[in-house]
Amino acid sequence: MTARADGPQTDLAELERPALEDALEARGYRRFHARQIYRWIYRRGVSDVSAMTDLSRKLRQRLAEDFILTTPEIVLRQQSVDGTEKFLLRLADGQQIESVFIPDTPSMTFCVSTQVGCAMACAFCLTGKMGLVRNLTAGEIVGQVRVLAGALDMRDKRFNIVLMGMGEPLHNYDETMKALRILNDEHGFAMSPRRITLSTVGLLPALERLAREPVMPNLAISLHAPTDELRGELVPINKKYGVKDIIDACKRFPLKRRSRITFEYVLLAGVNDSLDDARRLATLLSGVKSKVNLIPLNAAAGIPFERPSDRVIDRFAQILAEHHLTVSVRKSRGRDIRAACGQLIVEGQKKSPAQQLATLAFSD
Ligand code: SAH
Repeated sequence: MTARADGPQTDLAELERPALEDALEARGYRRFHARQIYRWIYRRGVSDVSAMTDLSRKLRQRLAEDFILTTPEIVLRQQSVDGTEKFLLRLADGQQIESVFIPDTPSMTFCVSTQVGCAMACAFCLTGKMGLVRNLTAGEIVGQVRVLAGALDMRDKRFNIVLMGMGEPLHNYDETMKALRILNDEHGFAMSPRRITLSTVGLLPALERLAREPVMPNLAISLHAPTDELRGELVPINKKYGVKDIIDACKRFPLKRRSRITFEYVLLAGVNDSLDDARRLATLLSGVKSKVNLIPLNAAAGIPFERPSDRVIDRFAQILAEHHLTVSVRKSRGRDIRAACGQLIVEGQKKSPAQQLATLAFSD
């Protein structure tokens, strides 16, 4: 849409449907047009109001004057030998983020970012090294889904979403929740929150807020260590919100029937992969409706850790299983295109003009 010179325009991508209804009403139009507009944007994938042909010409004209519709732009699309696809997307202000499509895990999954960079500085994650550049808006979070669904021709297909890309979703709470509401809207993607997983280091106040949300995603906690001593070294925010408090919050978390909290545990050779660590983890999680997802480290230059051997990984998993925990080992996907956990790269972001490594973490 072409921008109008006189005055700020509202971005349709940033509007929840009730707000869009209000905006239409304020201009003398009927509220129900919001449903049509939602269908065009989210189901039919248009990025220009002139294409919304079931709206009157006059309304389209008015929309084009008062609103814009911002859509992230694909800068680069790479496909892994295993079918994983990585998208480098440019936002309206030139910042870049990455989103990943992971097929057949067994479902189709979109891994999306919630921030440019990340403030959490986890010791094994490259995104943490770049610091936080800025939060994404709800429209930019949902925009990744719009772009991937279009590029992959999946608008009519079922897919899951994991908020496991760049950033800490609970550190960008309001925009993330707004994005979930937009994704959930029955006239848009109509995504059930059960198909969405939010992964977090466990920012306690935000976690407690999340427990009261009407649109509640599945929860994954990036735990990585069973004690404060060790976790504090790997996940700096643990010094503020410790292991016990996070586990207690998880025990109180209102889970739907049969659902469980996923605990992610990146395995680092000689650091958190001992038999004792496994036993402590099992004790810690007893009484929590949990499943454990072990993530063997995706090693990268600049990351001072190594991946344990398969034997150590299997043994760790086995101990958890012996303690009646459900455990899975995440298979790394897309490593050849650096789309795996801790491996996505965005160059030339704010902080240094030199090639900067930003990562977006994902594998299945
Ligand atoms: N900030 C959120 C969302 C990122 S999710 C969170 O921490 O949960 C990405 C997952 O991949 C996290 O569990 C993260 O700890 C993990 N990860 C990051 N770097 C990794 C690496 N190099 N190898 C394997 N897993 C990694």
